Amino acid sequence: MRSKNSLPILIIGGGIAGIQAAIDLGGMGIKVHLIEEKPSIGGRMAQLDKTFPTNDCSICILAPKMAECFRHPNITLHTYSEVKEVTGSLGDFSVKVLKKARFIKEKECVGCGECAAKCPVRVPDEFDIELRRREAIYMYFLQALPMIMTIDKDHCLYFTRGVCRICERVCTRDAIDFEQKDREIDLKVGAIIVATGFDLFNPVNISEYGYKRYRNVVSALEYERLICASGPTGGHLLRPSDRKPAEKIAFLQCVGSRDVKNNQYCSTICCMHATKEAILAKEHDSNVQSFIFYMDMRAIGKGFQKYISRGEAEYGIKYVRGRVTKITEDSAENPIIWFEDTQDSAIGKMKMDLTVLATSFIPRRGRVDLAEILGVELDEYGFFKVNDLTPLSTSKPGIYICGCCKEPMDIPDSVAQASGAAAVAAEVIMGVKG
Ligand SMILES: Cc1cc2nc3c(=O)[nH]c(=O)nc-3n(C[C@H](O)[C@H](O)[C@H](O)COP(=O)(O)OP(=O)(O)OC[C@H]3O[C@@H](n4cnc5c(N)ncnc54)[C@H](O)[C@@H]3O)c2cc1C
Repeated sequence: MRSKNSLPILIIGGGIAGIQAAIDLGGMGIKVHLIEEKPSIGGRMAQLDKTFPTNDCSICILAPKMAECFRHPNITLHTYSEVKEVTGSLGDFSVKVLKKARFIKEKECVGCGECAAKCPVRVPDEFDIELRRREAIYMYFLQALPMIMTIDKDHCLYFTRGVCRICERVCTRDAIDFEQKDREIDLKVGAIIVATGFDLFNPVNISEYGYKRYRNVVSALEYERLICASGPTGGHLLRPSDRKPAEKIAFLQCVGSRDVKNNQYCSTICCMHATKEAILAKEHDSNVQSFIFYMDMRAIGKGFQKYISRGEAEYGIKYVRGRVTKITEDSAENPIIWFEDTQDSAIGKMKMDLTVLATSFIPRRGRVDLAEILGVELDEYGFFKVNDLTPLSTSKPGIYICGCCKEPMDIPDSVAQASGAAAVAAEVIMGVKG
């Protein structure tokens, strides 16, 4: 099926969208280079506990796709790598990729973790959103692919102070290489798919919610890690201040979204992920009582309204319509929610054990540089801009977009767009379309 002369396709971003696009293209017999800036593929989906509306375990559905992508004979993975330069045009792009040194011999390391067990350094773990600490030599997460270690040069004692090298001594496979250097590789590709995903709004910017001032006010992504079996509390829903079970939980919607001072757009899926998170809390502990404070319920998907109704009827979630004006804290570090209930025209306050902020999806850090490298436009919010009637195409022929780097969306939509972008890119490089 593949034209003999066509070049491989480059995918930038190894979240669920990039993984799906790579698998689809690989299955068509097209060679793919997948670039991921982190030490592992997986993206945000790897950080989630379960996924709405089925409440399937997120990593259980993601891990087989990661493995398929990792093992696929037509897919070359470049993790811990960044695109530095792109020249050329549709059918004939030249790409410079920076492969950052992990200081690990990739072929030797089996990810046994003996080195990390002896590493004396502890630093906040980015994957667990700093709710736990990791070593300076680390595996990005438990199911990471490739399953190899990485040395964090900024914190490793050998790189910062010229001492230690314990990992080198304990590694029985001689897999540590302190001399390793960053490398540049040159690729020739016919088309490019951008799947760089999203970041999350920092709620510190809304000071009345006390995020980072109050330990029991967390973001929704932090909550996903707190409730996840592989997370920092082993899946027990314990509040950060005293590790006591959280039984009364407030979920605040639209934190940074639909807000003229921050991001005016709707982040689309927060009503659904908050409902899921409240359902999961009840499944963990039948004593839990959850309150979701919302402006409007936006359940824009098949079966989504039913999911919310089930949350209300079967899991006792209380939906309170009204914006929370502020959060304060009592002497036991319980967050106090001050709110207006617009349905009862009442003003009230409620004491909670834990408060969860559904923060806005925002454009990915680094997208301005990447857009410049690629020569494509960003939209008014900073997401990658697409053409209205060809919604997977950028302003530049041969460069396509899928997933949350375009706008906030859920996993099924990210996957559908990824398959769409793969099909369009394949069609173009096989010469069906110019
Ligand atoms: C709290 C929360 C709960 C959620 N719950 C659900 C749910 O229950 N169900 C559901 O359907 N959806 C849920 N989602 C949404 C889901 O996370 C997204 O739909 C999905 O992750 C989008 O995938 P993506 O591949 O587009 O982006 P991402 O997951 O962000 O992946 C992008 C990848 O690209 C990499 N990358 C970025 N920039 C570069 C670069 N310049 N070079 C190389 N690599 C780069 C990143 O490191 C990352 O690996 C939730 C989201 C949040 C925040």
